[in-house]
Amino acid sequence: MFRALIVDKTEDGGTEAGVQEIPPDRLPEGEVTVAVEYSTVNYKDGLCVGPGGGLVRSYPHVPGIDFAGTVESSDDARYSPGDRVVLTGWRVGEAHWGGFAEKARVKADWLVPLPSGLSTFQAMAVGTAGFTAMLAVMTLEDHGLRQGQGPVLVTGASGGVGSVATALLANLGYEVAAVTGRPENAEYLTALGASRIVPREDIAETVKRPLETETWAGCVDAVGGPMLARVLGQLKYGAGAAAVGLTGGTDLPAKIVPFLLRGVNLLGIDSVMQPQDARARAWRRIAQELPLDMLEEMVQTAALADVPRLGAEILEGRLRGRVVVDVTR
Ligand code: NDP
Repeated sequence: MFRALIVDKTEDGGTEAGVQEIPPDRLPEGEVTVAVEYSTVNYKDGLCVGPGGGLVRSYPHVPGIDFAGTVESSDDARYSPGDRVVLTGWRVGEAHWGGFAEKARVKADWLVPLPSGLSTFQAMAVGTAGFTAMLAVMTLEDHGLRQGQGPVLVTGASGGVGSVATALLANLGYEVAAVTGRPENAEYLTALGASRIVPREDIAETVKRPLETETWAGCVDAVGGPMLARVLGQLKYGAGAAAVGLTGGTDLPAKIVPFLLRGVNLLGIDSVMQPQDARARAWRRIAQELPLDMLEEMVQTAALADVPRLGAEILEGRLRGRVVVDVTR
């Protein structure tokens, strides 16, 4: 038997989540069985632990969109018992049972071998949010972002994506301006490497003028909505904004003018279906370029039973940094 956080439908059409002991034969199909050590709480987990947000296909369901652990058994030649692996995306935790359990069974293609120098705990301190922040930085660099071009804006900075993006960019030598709606987190963001704090209200309103002063050499955006639209008009000539998230809304009330007169780029970032070579490259860069001691600043640890509460908190934008779930607790 192993412990898992099971979400099930209730008679009134809602859902309830609780830790249960279940036998391994209830695990879904897959080539590799992993003894999960750590998972995390991401925005999508908040949805999947609660009413589902249209992401969960069938119940009972084990959520958890990412995990790190050790291979227990494998029908695929690429993996052997004892290998340390990390998984993010591929709709695991949504359409497939996920990481809020002591065991997971998944396709071998979905796994990435953990790079040396990164523990399973550190991998989940980074998690989907940090992995996606790395993809955003890689994409901005692929489109020409270089140190010395000016400040790089990070929106939703005290969240998971924003915290890792801030630490990563600062460690790479970029000047980081961090947008937050929580002034009490200014000291935290400065400790991660932000050299400037931008109050959310300064930048949250819908675009008034299509072009404002050219300010940002790039942007990692976890917020979307009117804030992203506003940022487009403040980008320097030819700069890019990497659109990662939508905590500020799904509409983009933007003007076309910054694209035409300043050649700005709106760069979509998807971590879920990201090809394998980019995944391996991102994890290698995380192991080498993220100041791992900074992770301690951003991380709180939790037990499986804490996940429903933390899921509700992340949906309300109340979590700071990253939450690592020790599934054995
Ligand atoms: P968090 O909740 O940890 O962080 C989001 C941050 O956004 C909050 O901490 C807050 O930062 C800010 N925020 C919250 N509500 C609002 C609002 N109404 N207006 C403006 N800012 C707001 O989430 P994550 O960092 O884990 O994820 C961020 C987003 O990225 C989510 O939408 C998530 O779904 C998405 N995502 C997308 C991925 C992809 O593959 N594209 C992968 C991973 C995440 P502060 O208090 O500092 O202002």
